[in-house]
Amino acid sequence: MKDTIVLYPALGRGHLLSMIELGKLILTHNSSFSIKILIPTPPNTTNIDTTTFGCDSSITFHHITTASPSTATLPSHLLAFDTCRRSNQNFHHLLQSISKTTNLKAIVMDFMNYSAKEVTNNLDIPTYFYYTSGASTLCVMLNCPTVPKNTENFLIQIPGLPTISSKDMPEAAVDRMIPPVFCIGPVTSAPCVEEDKNGCLSWLDSQPSQSVVLLSFGSLGRFSRNQLKEIAIGLEKSEQRFLWVVRSDSDEESLEELLPQGFLERTKEKGMVVKNWAPQAAILSHDSVGGFVTHCGWNSVLEAVCEGVPMVAFPLYAEQKLNRVVLVEEMKVALALKESKDGFVSATELGNRVKELMDSEKGKEIRERILNMKMSGVEARAQGGSSCVALNGLAELWKEEDHLTLYSPNT
Ligand code: UDP
Repeated sequence: MKDTIVLYPALGRGHLLSMIELGKLILTHNSSFSIKILIPTPPNTTNIDTTTFGCDSSITFHHITTASPSTATLPSHLLAFDTCRRSNQNFHHLLQSISKTTNLKAIVMDFMNYSAKEVTNNLDIPTYFYYTSGASTLCVMLNCPTVPKNTENFLIQIPGLPTISSKDMPEAAVDRMIPPVFCIGPVTSAPCVEEDKNGCLSWLDSQPSQSVVLLSFGSLGRFSRNQLKEIAIGLEKSEQRFLWVVRSDSDEESLEELLPQGFLERTKEKGMVVKNWAPQAAILSHDSVGGFVTHCGWNSVLEAVCEGVPMVAFPLYAEQKLNRVVLVEEMKVALALKESKDGFVSATELGNRVKELMDSEKGKEIRERILNMKMSGVEARAQGGSSCVALNGLAELWKEEDHLTLYSPNT
């Protein structure tokens, strides 16, 4: 029976694509494994066309149907957790049937699928969490519970309770058992030109080298009409060429209705605006693109780093504000936008930052820095590079029996 690794991504395109790329990476270095990717499928969602991902036959896809939706309407950022929890029973059945025909060595599940750990514990299958964002934010999460421990006299305010000193916290709440961490990546998906229904790439072909700034905000990023208008005014003022993927709170409205009057006509020589979706990775790899206004989703960040495209950070949700800190202050490959308390960004601020990125000494420095980082990414993934070594170490563990007990984090 073939040694099999099961990959269990969380709901959401970014999570799925990243997991698929991990599967491909595992096979690049260890072709003896077979990979099974389980796709959570909540009711009323269209099935994903898995034939477009360029996977070889050692990777197969299996849908896990999700039990009927909970009655509560959940905010979108909680949907992934809920979907996983409701899929546990079917996940259990699927793992049992996979184990009958293959030698199931390990499960790698998205960290958001932590509730499925209950199932793998019951079945006694070695389980790894895949963290699809950056190492820095993982570090923040792993260290959060130690904050009270490290900080003298740390006071915790909880409504309805007196102020609690960190010294009075239960030990379990500040106990850290950090698991072994394997740093793999950068993991990015291959540019998919088939998705270019609006002709973005041929428009880019007609633009000068590194002249266009891309504005794209992930799979969930959407704006109010006011914010869209402000972005449009700022872009126009910046006088830069742009390609903007617009998604709004009101899906049924046309671009003409959403954007300031005459904007599309006035900017048609310099700009292209598309609604909802564009092939972002392919666009970032195009020579005409020289800057990227991003919501700081980690897939987007990695795509920009791997193509050497400097960024303006416009975080919207999840851990994106933390990512901004890392991009701006640590990696120094992005400019930060100043926003109001409720996250609103003015036209002047957006226009100034876009101009600064595309047309200033500081912008040039950021570009040089990210080009160096692009090379570091290539080196990490090359034979003998840090990612390759980590992945090989992991594969060796999977080939061993009882590998969880054999592994010690610092060896
Ligand atoms: N993406 C795309 N076209 C779009 C918007 C997003 O191809 O118009 C892709 C983008 O290239 C990235 C993924 O969707 O691979 C978004 O992942 P990310 O982690 O950046 O953000 P999320 O959607 O998870 O917030």
